[in-house]
Amino acid sequence: MPSSKTRVAIIGGGVAGLVVARHATSRPEIYSVSLFEQTGQIGGTWVYTDETETDRNGLPVHSSMYKNLRTNLPKEIMEIPDFPFKDRQGPSFVHHSVIRQYLLDYSKHFNLYPHIKLNTLVNHVEPEKLSNGQVIWSVTYTDLATRVRTVKTYDAVVLCNGHYTVGHVPPIPGIEGFKGTSLHSHQYRLPENYSGKNVCILGASWSGIDICIEVSKHARKIYLSHNLPEQLDTKMLKNVEQRFGIDHINENSFIFRDGSSAQIDVLIYCTGYNFTYPFLSSKVEVRTDNNHVEPIYKHLVHMDWPNLFFMGLPAIVVPFPMFHIQTQYILGLIEGRVKLPSSKQMYEEYELEKKSLLEQGIAIRHINKMSDRQWAYYDDIAKAANIVGFPPVVKMIYDYCCKMREEDFTTYKNYQFRIIDRENFTVSCCKPR
Ligand code: FAD
Repeated sequence: MPSSKTRVAIIGGGVAGLVVARHATSRPEIYSVSLFEQTGQIGGTWVYTDETETDRNGLPVHSSMYKNLRTNLPKEIMEIPDFPFKDRQGPSFVHHSVIRQYLLDYSKHFNLYPHIKLNTLVNHVEPEKLSNGQVIWSVTYTDLATRVRTVKTYDAVVLCNGHYTVGHVPPIPGIEGFKGTSLHSHQYRLPENYSGKNVCILGASWSGIDICIEVSKHARKIYLSHNLPEQLDTKMLKNVEQRFGIDHINENSFIFRDGSSAQIDVLIYCTGYNFTYPFLSSKVEVRTDNNHVEPIYKHLVHMDWPNLFFMGLPAIVVPFPMFHIQTQYILGLIEGRVKLPSSKQMYEEYELEKKSLLEQGIAIRHINKMSDRQWAYYDDIAKAANIVGFPPVVKMIYDYCCKMREEDFTTYKNYQFRIIDRENFTVSCCKPR
């Protein structure tokens, strides 16, 4: 007998996929859930590997985690609202292995494993229109151990395939003649690999700065090349010099946009990532150029396919709790508790918002970078889903972290936060020694 349950396919077993699975599986009377994960482990980005090219299934390595990475947000605000970190005392900015363990504990606690298919690659997702007008999704997946391909249909698909795997590499005149080594931060693992070298780090966002700090302890010299409007305060890092973007390269000689030059052994691109959905049918018509995914309503729902969902598009956010709220919104839509406007209205609303951001001077490739806009976004979808939004304490700690990072990005991870009273948002914070 066909099941009357709503069949949900979740693609990807990182945090986003696990959070969706946790909430959908908690309503077994409504949902039947399949989570597909191409690797042999859950955790996505938080599964460290020494590999940089292909994994044991022969697929491109997914995770961009590096060996010494400590989180750039304190664990006090990274925790998923219904699953606090066990250790309320230890450091706030924790090693990546702590987060991975947290995700394993989360999956065990909510009994997610029976719903997860590991080593299972989703190859293709195709919409099918039924005679009654309803759209269902045909999902083709491969068991990578047996190489058996299966096709099954689902009522809704949630894309949680992550956005930090395919590195964006900007063109640089003369790069083809570069005699040194170049890599993207996706392939960066250990700072010791750059001992005694002259390294150019291109890009000074989160990864660029983080990698600069650790490589500077080993490299001979670092040229941190970026187009930020102001110079960063790098006086704590004695062997780091800042330069404008790279104008061109002549063998090992890098000529920067300010006219200065330097001899470089290693170029590390910290230039961000591209959104990709290689398994999505061309019928779906998703555009991912310009570091921007369209046409998506509230950064979550395809405007022409309202049972196809995109998790985790916003950047410069507090991702774990955001996934919690995004999930409530998606499940509200599937269950009919949350209503979408007509497709025409969604397009109009979206175009208006985009126009307003462009008028504020925000380039299209930065539209998904939320920063200060994130709080209104969370409030908006939490209200629509009729759930409690972010506790104000999260914003308070987040803002404080940004301030500390601006003051000194070399020491901010030594601060420790304690949430004393979540409701009245009282926090204690110890300064680094
Ligand atoms: P991912 O964790 O990338 O998971 C996606 C999963 O989908 C993977 O397991 C992948 O194997 C699977 N998958 C992809 N395609 C397929 C397919 N076709 N079939 C089956 N499975 C598939 N966030 C913070 O909050 N704090 C931090 O300190 C922080 N530091 C970061 C440091 C680095 C270096 C990076 C890259 C990111 C960092 N982030 C941080 C952001 C981080 O990416 C998010 O917190 C979060 O892990 C994203 O989860 P996700 O589930 O969206 O994607």
